Amino acid sequence: MSRPLEIAACRSACAWDASGERLDDEPLFVCSGCGSEWVPSQPWTPIDWTGRVPGPVQRAVRERRGRG
Ligand SMILES: [Zn+2]
Repeated sequence: MSRPLEIAACRSACAWDASGERLDDEPLFVCSGCGSEWVPSQPWTPIDWTGRVPGPVQRAVRERRGRG
C-alpha cells in the first residue's frame, strides 16, 4: 500500500461512501462522519451509523471476492 489509511474512532455520525479516488488499484472510501478511510483489501468492513454496511461498500467487497 502506498500510504497508510486514515483510521479515526468512528462516531455515531458515520456515513461511508466512495471518495472517487483510488489508492493503488483500489477504490478509496471515506467516512464523512469521522474521516476514516477504507479500501476493499482491508480485513474489516465499515458500517454506517445505522449499523448497516453501505451499498457501495457491499458492492466493492463483492467485486473484490469475484475477482479473486
Ligand atoms: Zn466514521
